[in-house]
Amino acid sequence: MKRILITGGAGFIGSHLSERLLNEGNDIICLDNFYTGSKDNIRHLIGNNRFELVRHDVINEYNIEIDEIYNLACPASPVHYQYNPVKTMKTSVMGIINMLELAKRCNAKILQASTSEVYGDPKIHPQTEEYWGNVNPIGLRSCYDEGKRAAETLMIDYRRQNNVNIRIARIFNTYGPKMALNDGRVVSNFIIQALKNEPITVYGTGSQTRAFCYVSDIVDALIKLMNSSYSLPVNLGNPDEHSILDFAKYIIELTNSKSEIIFKELPMDDPMQREPDISLAKSILNWEPKVSLKEGLLNTIKYFEERI
Ligand code: NAD
Ligand code: UDP
Repeated sequence: MKRILITGGAGFIGSHLSERLLNEGNDIICLDNFYTGSKDNIRHLIGNNRFELVRHDVINEYNIEIDEIYNLACPASPVHYQYNPVKTMKTSVMGIINMLELAKRCNAKILQASTSEVYGDPKIHPQTEEYWGNVNPIGLRSCYDEGKRAAETLMIDYRRQNNVNIRIARIFNTYGPKMALNDGRVVSNFIIQALKNEPITVYGTGSQTRAFCYVSDIVDALIKLMNSSYSLPVNLGNPDEHSILDFAKYIIELTNSKSEIIFKELPMDDPMQREPDISLAKSILNWEPKVSLKEGLLNTIKYFEERI
């Protein structure tokens, strides 16, 4: 049994991770400022005497005795992270410094939830960990992309300078139940629009691509990565790539919706192609995603149906 701190534990991925690690017999400290997360996501865990919920902002220091830290605190949807870009950068940079200081003091292992956004609008496809990326430092997505890149730098430098035991997960688009209904990401937007028979809003021509991974697969991978001894970045995601237009049509089909597709302006710096190369994760973690897009989307549609 370990004492595990999960920052952003009341968020979409964090709440699934909290539940899983709690069920495995660990003590969980779930830390969140509820900026995009919700108590509803972890309400069923409150009352378990191995689960503690702490309202705290990671930009401020936090002290505790701990064995492992999963640092997930950061808004992840473009709508949310662009709402207060200065705060987003502070959360990534000051948050990881505070968590790395904690890891250093307690001799704890620390995993950073990094992102495919470190590759920006990639010029190589699919993306491998060796690729340095193509990121605009002054665009609307920069607060998130550059914040996450700086956090990776801090992780590596705390290892080089202080021998902190680090793990870096480059997570690609993840979806599933407990995504916030209002988060503006493509999966939640399309499903809600389809269920309400409202127009499906495809940005640009819809030729841009994404590859979607179901949340239980990502949670498996995060835990495997933490338990491994690999301290360089690892891509985690599902390589099943689709154009956004095809994705819209698939959601209409799965929901039997009467929605039409409408086209809106493509947001600034929207990456045109994204697909993880997961060869490294396969070889060092013996992991690959198990849940098909159809199965994952049907679970997610059911969740949203119950909510709206
Ligand atoms: P989310 O917005 O649902 O969860 C983020 C959580 O962090 C929320 O509970 C929020 O309230 C909390 N938080 C935000 N700022 C905070 C702060 N300053 N102090 C304390 N808590 C704070 O997003 P998610 O999709 O669950 O993403 C979790 C992590 O995984 C994020 O770090 C994100 O960057 C990363 N990630 C997610 C995806 C994805 O597709 N979901 C892809 C790549 C990386
Ligand atoms: N997108 C879209 N319609 C929407 C929301 C998003 O066409 O209502 C597109 C968006 O422009 C991007 C892709 O879907 O190309 C994925 O967007 P999301 O915000 O989910 O995540 P990203 O991978 O861009 O961070």
